[in-house]
Amino acid sequence: MKNSWESWSEQRVADFQQVFLKWYEEEHRNLPWRADQNPYRIWISEIMLQQTRVDTVIGYFYRFMERFPTIQALAQAEDEVLLKTWEGLGYYSRARNLKIAAQQIVEKFDGKMPGNLADIQSLKGIGPYTSGAIASIAFGLPEPAIDGNVMRVTSRLFEIDADIAKSSSRKIFDEAMRKIISHEFPGEFNQAMMDLGSAICTPTSPSCNICPIQSFCVSYAEGTQLHFPVKSKKMKAKPMYYLAFAAKDEDGAYYLEQRPDTGLLANMWTFPLVEVSKERYTELSQHSEHGLNKEFSLPNEIAETVWQTKPTGEITHIFSHLKWHILVYEGIKQAREDFTVAESLEKYNENNVRWVTGTDFQTLVFPKPQIKMWDLLKKHSDKITDYQS
Ligand code: SF4
Repeated sequence: MKNSWESWSEQRVADFQQVFLKWYEEEHRNLPWRADQNPYRIWISEIMLQQTRVDTVIGYFYRFMERFPTIQALAQAEDEVLLKTWEGLGYYSRARNLKIAAQQIVEKFDGKMPGNLADIQSLKGIGPYTSGAIASIAFGLPEPAIDGNVMRVTSRLFEIDADIAKSSSRKIFDEAMRKIISHEFPGEFNQAMMDLGSAICTPTSPSCNICPIQSFCVSYAEGTQLHFPVKSKKMKAKPMYYLAFAAKDEDGAYYLEQRPDTGLLANMWTFPLVEVSKERYTELSQHSEHGLNKEFSLPNEIAETVWQTKPTGEITHIFSHLKWHILVYEGIKQAREDFTVAESLEKYNENNVRWVTGTDFQTLVFPKPQIKMWDLLKKHSDKITDYQS
């Protein structure tokens, strides 16, 4: 059987493009990275927009551009400053890949974003969606930029029943998009798809009554909008259970550890985290407990801490494949006779642990779960006021 886009005549494609581009011209959102066709700004915005809402990205985008106004500046960025600028956006590998790609551009492409698809795709962290966005918006190449929004719109427009959770389906959407993309205004066309998907053709309640392409939409005509896109169930994120030990000294400084330089949340700073079974986690969340120091092997420097018998609260955080449940215990560190403050600071700074005070909040990089823990503790303390830059 023919796919429905294959039966579209050239005239129908032209009519579709005209209606769609006119709508975009009149209704498009004014976003800071749309002010010109600067490939650097488009690249950064598209990476930030992965997994993050437009409203949230705008503030991050301005701050990022202020700190790293050029590809050269990004290539030379200090890791700590780069990650601090990214703090709160999550998926920190995106920020690390940006810097590596910027270095590739400086070394191989004379400091300028290359203008063809193969070279753009050779850069670290740039996949088919981002390369399509850069190629079409910055360089006017008729390349589709296919993300979840675009697959939703396209699947409804043509009643495409390919499973969008499978990577093998991508070529079907690619084919459909290549049939309808404007060769004259490919960047505007792709951005119109993005805007339509996020504002009108939304997942659960598409606003078909105000949709500019309603008269072309097969699922609208059939009343099957909510049957598309077809998506097989994702594997559930695996639950993991942790206790976080937030030890505070008499000056209100908190004890934090830097995570190893590989693996999840590499190099970032968190309270000491101890993994526990689901059963123990449930018990601890429901009952007051004494003797936490004996039960869990905590770092020497906080081993004498007097912990609250009940946790301050719980936070959860979902990574793509894991769901962390964290009970947060706050405690007051007891002075130890065998350490002077100067000795302990020297020793612990060397070992990637630190008593964190207000000034450190401006330089250390905290992952999202730690920010949630700060938020939780902030509700119970007036000392934590400035952990975000
Ligand atoms: S008519 Fe409805 S289902 Fe079709 S593209 Fe527009 S909003 Fe989506």
